[in-house]
Amino acid sequence: MEVVKVDLREEIDNSYDIVIGRGLLDNLAMELRKIPANEFVIITDSNIAGTYGKRLLNDLKNKNIDVHLITFSAGEKSKTRKTKEKLENEMLRLNLGRDACIIALGGGVAGDIAGFAAATYMRGIPYIHVPTTLLAMVDSSIGGKVAVDTGHAKNAVGAFYQPKKVVIDLNFLKTLPKKELVNGLAELIKHALIKDKDFFHFIEKNIDRILACDVDILKTAIKRSCEIKADIVMQDEKEKGLRRILNYGHTIGHAIESALSYRISHGNAIAIGMSYAAKLSAKLGHLHEGSVIRQNNLLEYIGLPHKLSHHKLKPRRILEHVQYDKKIMNGRINFVLLNSIGDAFVSDEVNIEDIKNILEEG
Ligand code: ADP
Ligand code: ZN
Repeated sequence: MEVVKVDLREEIDNSYDIVIGRGLLDNLAMELRKIPANEFVIITDSNIAGTYGKRLLNDLKNKNIDVHLITFSAGEKSKTRKTKEKLENEMLRLNLGRDACIIALGGGVAGDIAGFAAATYMRGIPYIHVPTTLLAMVDSSIGGKVAVDTGHAKNAVGAFYQPKKVVIDLNFLKTLPKKELVNGLAELIKHALIKDKDFFHFIEKNIDRILACDVDILKTAIKRSCEIKADIVMQDEKEKGLRRILNYGHTIGHAIESALSYRISHGNAIAIGMSYAAKLSAKLGHLHEGSVIRQNNLLEYIGLPHKLSHHKLKPRRILEHVQYDKKIMNGRINFVLLNSIGDAFVSDEVNIEDIKNILEEG
């Protein structure tokens, strides 16, 4: 037998900056000039296209940047292979080559689908993400998870593919509907709960200003939230260990989303998930009762649900979906618990019976 070795070990530097400020959309040209690309394509949803999309397109054209705009219909329902194919066909029609760069302008949906298109178009072209929702700013734009949903599961087909840059323009928050702000707050609070008790305290203290969309406070909160997520991703880019703590509230949260066929926002679902995860942490002797109340009071104040009954859900239905969850291996569930506010860990001591009991307690 002869062997030909294909030795492909390499040091890869996927580092990138997240820049945060006001009015960055109108200065994007400056950032684009640092990217080794000759042509740009803005991919955005149908709501954002007419406002920010057109504005960016015209601004870049005026600055002599070769740029195009491609739109897909707004909403999670568009995050499919079919939409990705349509976007790719448009890009091919525009004759975009390997020297093109995608600008993903929008929320988590635009980031995920445009990022995934970037990962596979011509075997990979650069992309930058300009998140316009709070959720995308603090969560989905960091860490390079790009994907589409299939009939089988959410994010079932995707890649790890890092953007060249994330540009957070705080001015987008001014037009963001309140329910989208609250949706993003669930992930922001999750970051505080798993890693930083002082940050949790900061959110509690400033919650009225946050809900009133005070951009100065939000800037501090968004920066801290990005730091926490980036710090975890830096230590575990491909989710082999530590990164799993980001799934706090998500085991039950994902089960709720699929039980309701995604007719619930991700933020609402994980808020309910976090509330039961905290109760379970207390029941198993890790978390103080007072901390459970503190967490759930904050969720309630924001208007996030924290009980199954808020969505008329039966524990039995949630359990069925928890059991399908991909995180179950050999009958064991990797369940994220809290030791205290600001200190999460992944536990394998939680079994389905514990989850059943906690859900039935209401
Ligand atoms: P997520 O970021 O939660 O994954 P989407 O990408 O689907 O969600 O965005 C949620 C909705 O908010 C979409 O209908 C989108 O068009 C709209 N949207 C996103 N950003 C803004 C904004 N800055 N102002 C107003 N509407 C926005
Ligand atoms: Zn999430």
